[in-house]
Amino acid sequence: MMFVLLYNYVMKRGLLIIMSGPSGVGKGTVRLELMKDESLDLFYSVSMTTRSPRPGERNGVEYYFTTKEDFDRQIKEGNLLEYAEFVGNKYGTPKDKVNSKRDEGKNVLLEIDVKGTSQVLEKLKGDEGVISIFLVPPSLEELEARIRGRSTETEEVIQKRLKTFQEEVVYKDQYQYIVVNDDLNKCVEEIRQIIKSKM
Ligand code: 5GP
Repeated sequence: MMFVLLYNYVMKRGLLIIMSGPSGVGKGTVRLELMKDESLDLFYSVSMTTRSPRPGERNGVEYYFTTKEDFDRQIKEGNLLEYAEFVGNKYGTPKDKVNSKRDEGKNVLLEIDVKGTSQVLEKLKGDEGVISIFLVPPSLEELEARIRGRSTETEEVIQKRLKTFQEEVVYKDQYQYIVVNDDLNKCVEEIRQIIKSKM
């Protein structure tokens, strides 16, 4: 008991930073920039998904790519902190790593959708180490241009992803911070300042 108290006193538990935003808003790029800053002491929580890898995506780096059967088993076994379905595929956050890394004092970064965020906020109510950030594009036109620029999706999927944005934006009030990703450097700096202010 004494050891636990001393440990908690010396080792500050890490933050849990939730970053959401519509498909194509640039979350991945913002995340890569944030990860370069060692002073933020970030650990990126790699999600599990049933979607197929895009060209260049590697198992265990961008995602753990898995089957629907395995995903459902992970849910049943209680291994996920949250999960949601997005445009026909399932995505979820493995629970163990999030907890163990926060215990080590690392600031854990989650890049998850709005429904997954609702689950985490509900489960971790009262946890002052949780930060939630919603990234928005400067305009809907810009978002569409970015998704098309990626040119990895079919027209049908592009339309679905754009429609999903209209549904997602309804959830924006559950976030503590809304950051516009117009200029990448400015956006990253803003998030950096938010994290630093809570460390
Ligand atoms: P994408 O297919 O573009 O990589 O991701 C689609 C959406 O799923 C994005 O909004 C992304 O943030 C979200 N997402 C990725 N990983 C997770 C996760 O573990 N849980 C939830 N709820 N959403 C996720």
